[in-house]
Amino acid sequence: MTSQTRSALVVGGGIAGPVVAMALQKAGVEATVYEAYPSPADSVGGGLSIAANGLNALDVIGVGDVVRRVGTPMRGTVMQNWAGKVLAEFSPPAHLPPAQFAWRGDLYRALSDEATRRGIRTVYGKRLVAATDTGDQVDVSFADDTRASADVLVGADGIRSTVRSLIDPGAPRPEYAGLLGFAAPVADTGLPPTRGRLHLSYGKHASCGYLVYADGAGGWFVNLPHREPMTVAQARAVPAQEWLRVLREAFRDDRSPAPELLRSSDPADLLITGPLETMPTVPTWSRGRMVLVGDAVHAASPSSGQGASIAVESAVQLGRCLRDLPYGEAFAAYERLRRERVERIINAAIRTNRNKASPVARMARDLLMPIAMKVAMRMVKPEKMAWQFEYRIDWDEPVVTPAGSAHA
Ligand SMILES: Cc1cc2nc3c(=O)[nH]c(=O)nc-3n(C[C@H](O)[C@H](O)[C@H](O)COP(=O)(O)OP(=O)(O)OC[C@H]3O[C@@H](n4cnc5c(N)ncnc54)[C@H](O)[C@@H]3O)c2cc1C
Repeated sequence: MTSQTRSALVVGGGIAGPVVAMALQKAGVEATVYEAYPSPADSVGGGLSIAANGLNALDVIGVGDVVRRVGTPMRGTVMQNWAGKVLAEFSPPAHLPPAQFAWRGDLYRALSDEATRRGIRTVYGKRLVAATDTGDQVDVSFADDTRASADVLVGADGIRSTVRSLIDPGAPRPEYAGLLGFAAPVADTGLPPTRGRLHLSYGKHASCGYLVYADGAGGWFVNLPHREPMTVAQARAVPAQEWLRVLREAFRDDRSPAPELLRSSDPADLLITGPLETMPTVPTWSRGRMVLVGDAVHAASPSSGQGASIAVESAVQLGRCLRDLPYGEAFAAYERLRRERVERIINAAIRTNRNKASPVARMARDLLMPIAMKVAMRMVKPEKMAWQFEYRIDWDEPVVTPAGSAHA
């Protein structure tokens, strides 16, 4: 079985971009990545976790160890209230390998370096602005007035995707979630190690996540309620010193480790990750020779811990589909393989997020969570969550179009 697609333009050199390019290369399709930023990992910040399912997808194309090298194993989550009291603890099912926590900048750079090592070309400073499907190929133009062409265009250009609007001008846009994101690594936290567990501290005015490694170094992220929407550029125009002051103020009444972590942080290390956004369901995943992957088509809330993992799953599955089917059938097969799963994960996170910031919800959570957790842990066995983490891709299994479908 051979793919009839020979070349691909991949727009976006974040997480999904280099991974889809490597999956396409394995599938026999030559991909070139075009990234708007002038260099790899420029201006990206914050930390994220790659869950067992994401690592498995990366292992399919031999990239799992690249991520493990820049990551720290994460064996569970501890939820605390503003006073530092532990409300609940979660661990993934024991038979699954730990997730990996990585700084976004490190992860972007590691993936992009690996793609380069495999001979994939990434061109920086190329912001896609237009695309035309000529019937025989897809022609794109960039903001610097240069052009490129290929058999297919893969939009891996994130939650504010331009390719999504080119595929469907009426496509939904992300909505501001009322929170601004910040993060920082800390050389010496002065806190006991969290032994591979991510601590999530729900404070009186904002929430903070942190990890402390065995040597006392660590890192934190904060989601700060902020009524006025701000772009990343607007948020970064405010001096880091000023944001740190605002963050320390937001945690001043808390007795969790968050105030101490903020006090130990150097403004020079502050990463301003910008507005947190939610993305409604995207009705159209592909049109003609253009298709979407990653946050461009299924952005999961950060609280799902799954955004990057499902991005790489989709990237690998898209490669498999284009290996076996002509592009139209491949895109239909890809959506069939992916839509139900990603929407289930996104909707589960939306349910978790509801009312997170309200003081009434906070009180109810603090009072009820320990009881609810005892009951829930008895009723909802960790294995019931396993469907998210156990997803496996069988690369060698041929992708076929079912008889009777429009494409058969
Ligand atoms: C604060 C925060 C915390 C998160 N925590 C987690 C977590 O713990 N676990 C997890 O799995 N996920 C997490 N996520 C989600 C995760 O970061 C995303 O799901 C993941 O980055 C998606 O990868 P992507 O490649 O699709 O998009 P991105 O990583 O956003 O990459 C898109 C790339 O496209 C480029 N681009 C955009 N437009 C153009 C254009 N017109 N032309 C050329 N290039 C363009 C951008 O510059 C960027 O490099 C978090 C997200 C945020 C914001």
